Amino acid sequence: MDLPALVDRMSGRASKYDAAGEFPEEDFADLRDAGLLGLMVPPRLGGTGASFADYTDVAVQLGSGAGATALIFNMHASVTGALAHTPDELVRQFGAPESFFASRDRVLAAAAEGALYAVAMSEREAGSRLSKVRTAYERTGSGFRITGAKTFVSGAGHADAYLVAARDATSGEPRISYFLVPAGPGVRVRPTWDSLGMRATTSHDLDLDVEVDEDALVGGIEGAALLLAQVMPQWLVASYAAVYVGVARSVLRHGAAHLTERGLHTLPMVRARMGRADVQVAAAELVVRRAARQVTDDPGSPETNRWVWRAKLIAGDTAAEVAFSVLEAAGASATRRGHPLERLYRDARCGALQPATSDVCADWLGAAALGDNPDEVTRW
Ligand SMILES: Cc1cc2nc3c(=O)[nH]c(=O)nc-3n(C[C@H](O)[C@H](O)[C@H](O)COP(=O)(O)OP(=O)(O)OC[C@H]3O[C@@H](n4cnc5c(N)ncnc54)[C@H](O)[C@@H]3O)c2cc1C
Repeated sequence: MDLPALVDRMSGRASKYDAAGEFPEEDFADLRDAGLLGLMVPPRLGGTGASFADYTDVAVQLGSGAGATALIFNMHASVTGALAHTPDELVRQFGAPESFFASRDRVLAAAAEGALYAVAMSEREAGSRLSKVRTAYERTGSGFRITGAKTFVSGAGHADAYLVAARDATSGEPRISYFLVPAGPGVRVRPTWDSLGMRATTSHDLDLDVEVDEDALVGGIEGAALLLAQVMPQWLVASYAAVYVGVARSVLRHGAAHLTERGLHTLPMVRARMGRADVQVAAAELVVRRAARQVTDDPGSPETNRWVWRAKLIAGDTAAEVAFSVLEAAGASATRRGHPLERLYRDARCGALQPATSDVCADWLGAAALGDNPDEVTRW
């Protein structure tokens, strides 16, 4: 696979999809052809068997081509990566039935064949607070009935199945479970997405009134979502980080092209802004890659999780800061609709707002730096 050539093609199409606010069909045709939907899938099921560090490397490159495409891809990688990387022993310890492993393998093998998965966690009232989701499930004779409404579902209308977070309607406690719900009857996309940045993610609302089989319950166990968020935070907290490092890299590339083209590159103020941006992006990339290496080598340890939170904070803040500064160096001509820096300015603004938000990351890291237990407070 020629990833740099694929990234170049994505980059050339990014403005078009952003302007139309449309799902990047051609990018996903390319990703499918390159076998990237099977990136996280083990080779025995037809995939590449990538580690979290491998994912990070791919996501940085995709993000530097088209942030929105990389973000949709991140959601798919989060579903397949979490399924592929959770050790069988751990799932058994949680109480998963043996039937879970066959259904997990079917889901992963389908991804290697080109199926796309999306994440439907957020809700209008709850934001990304898992413990507050109102979408509810009840047991039926053959499985579950899920009812509720989701928002910000990247890739909505184009995914083959959605990872849905829902609460047990019969429990007074926030007993939250994940279901992989196939697209189809009972899953209705409401085309609401018209937002500032990452416009080509088509992150529409989703209305659910659907019955699913027993094996749609991810992990085969109820009530595991909150625990998983704490013990395996990388997919929930920091997989976006790589995407926003890619976006920040793209700001440097398009900034340099614009400044040189307009003959502004010799101005000391302009050079200083580019110099600061360069070091900020390099520092963010080092932290994100270090976190990815930690997750790969020592998943779930306190030290690893601290790097995961650092990665999300620095990537989100850096993308927004360099986009702000380089746009100022580039001048008003770069704020015209269709200019790459104008799109990147809007796309980069989203990183700090995605969960865990920069403020939440900073609070978590501050608690850790002060010697407190950052997980004592419910983050989700
Ligand atoms: C481009 C884009 C794509 C997205 N794609 C998806 C997707 O595919 N699937 C999906 O499920 N969601 C997706 N989201 C949604 C997103 O990840 C969040 O769920 C959403 O941004 C929550 O928004 P909210 O405005 O309700 O804010 P909240 O997350 O509720 O945050 C609002 C404010 O409360 C603060 N806050 C939040 N939690 C805490 C806390 N625990 N402690 C202290 N302060 C807190 C925040 O810092 C912020 O200031 C996407 C968002 C964007 C921007």
